[in-house]
Amino acid sequence: MKKFVSIIMILSLMLSVAACGNETETAQNDTTAESTDNKDTDEKTGGTESQASDLPETYVSEEPLELTLHMHFRNAYAYNDEWPVFKEAERLTNVSLKGVAPTSATDTQEVFNLLMVSGDLPDIVEGNNLRDDFIKYGMEGAFIPLEDLIAEHAPNIQKFIDEHPYVQTYSSGPDGHMYYIPYVPDGSVGKGYFIRKDWLDKLELEVPKNVDDLYNVLKAFATEDPNGNGQADEIPYFSRHVGENFKDNEAIRLAHFWGARTDFFVDDSGKVQHGLVSDEFKEGMINVAQWYEEGLIDPEIYTRGSKSRDIALGNNIGGMTHDWFGSSASYNTTLADSIPGFEFVAIAPPADSKGEVWEEFNRELVKPDGWAITSANENVVETIKYFDFWFTEEGRRLMNYGIEGEQYDMVDGKPVFKPEVLNGDKSVQAQLWDIGGQVPIGFFQDFDYELQTYNDIAAEGAKMYVDNDYVVDAFPLVAFNDEEQKIFDELNTNIETYMMETHQKWILGGESVEAGWDAYINRLNELGFQEFVEIHQSAYDRLK
Ligand code: CA
Repeated sequence: MKKFVSIIMILSLMLSVAACGNETETAQNDTTAESTDNKDTDEKTGGTESQASDLPETYVSEEPLELTLHMHFRNAYAYNDEWPVFKEAERLTNVSLKGVAPTSATDTQEVFNLLMVSGDLPDIVEGNNLRDDFIKYGMEGAFIPLEDLIAEHAPNIQKFIDEHPYVQTYSSGPDGHMYYIPYVPDGSVGKGYFIRKDWLDKLELEVPKNVDDLYNVLKAFATEDPNGNGQADEIPYFSRHVGENFKDNEAIRLAHFWGARTDFFVDDSGKVQHGLVSDEFKEGMINVAQWYEEGLIDPEIYTRGSKSRDIALGNNIGGMTHDWFGSSASYNTTLADSIPGFEFVAIAPPADSKGEVWEEFNRELVKPDGWAITSANENVVETIKYFDFWFTEEGRRLMNYGIEGEQYDMVDGKPVFKPEVLNGDKSVQAQLWDIGGQVPIGFFQDFDYELQTYNDIAAEGAKMYVDNDYVVDAFPLVAFNDEEQKIFDELNTNIETYMMETHQKWILGGESVEAGWDAYINRLNELGFQEFVEIHQSAYDRLK
């Protein structure tokens, strides 16, 4: 039935080609525009373009079109020609993709570099953490500017950009051209504090309400054998997010409990400040180092890596962490049989030393992931229309939820995951990855997809953080001009590297914070820190 409809559409389009000649292109564009807002367009166009209106709104090519695609992401995944999500997109758009990235490669950046060196470019390049490369190679001519193509042929992307202008800012180079369509996350909260409630109960302790309570609780976890095996093997505070990502480092984030921000922020007077040179951070580091020395923090927090949470919880030795709601709460299910009474719940952020309750972790507004059109592409209009499909309601639903009737059903006009998907052996996310859903192409994530996968503990935790408005404003995504970008590129790596090394040295006890603080500030100034702050201030002022 669906195929039959498609043939009618093609015939209809062929008639329209014969009748209108060159005007077909225009008619087709208008058809695409309808998908933004059907009612409006219907009223405006009346019946005059009825032939074009019979086309599927999402059909972007008259004849079946195959585009070549280099897709490789997260050091593991390459495009799979059999992914049902992209098969469905093909049915709806008449565009198929042919993956050309090596499927066995395990280094996304390396296969991207090899591709660029080869000079043999496919039509589309996709990957994660490629923003800077898309811009750099775009300015050299390997990827084409997209803003005009979007304005002319991609009404859904244009509408999205109009509503989220920082998306274009972020994916544009200093020359003002937009070089890739990014993956845009959704949702107002991501991480929260999780604690072993059954350990608190066993030790007859209350949920820690402030930093002093927290100290006492972690101390008790360290010394009172809450897992009951007779050994002092507990790791009171652990994290899997330390050392790799400067912006999301849970070791230095503990300084929050002494009022410190860990990134740029705008103070009440509109001045751009950096938390990691503040008096609060100094006090925080002194205390965090003390906690580390007393065994309240995982002794291997800097080296244990991404499996830390699995290890700490799976071995019944971890007491508390700060991590994503959905995945952290899921251990209540997966460990229910192996650890009797296991109860890992979200708690409000304990108040800092000034009595403030707050959460700094923000989801990134835009990811450095997505896809770009290369200069070798001979079907750029169809390609941008294909990109636009993923920003239609239908395309967005397909990428977020999979196939209707397979992964989800429509209930009261909304996609709802099937029970067998929610209760499957694998996580919902993993099931979606298997079919090509939730992969980091240019699309807008739907937070509701994640909320549906939350168990009650995750849902309650996320709701508590949302309802109480714990999350503070992140520093906005600013766009540097040419000169600022040059300064940023010159200074950023050295400053970050020096900061990370110094913080680690302090926490692990290699140097006293009090003894080293002045030298730290001086060294940062030598590395251009004042200038580094100034370019953020000027870019921020321009944004306002
Ligand atoms: Ca023990």
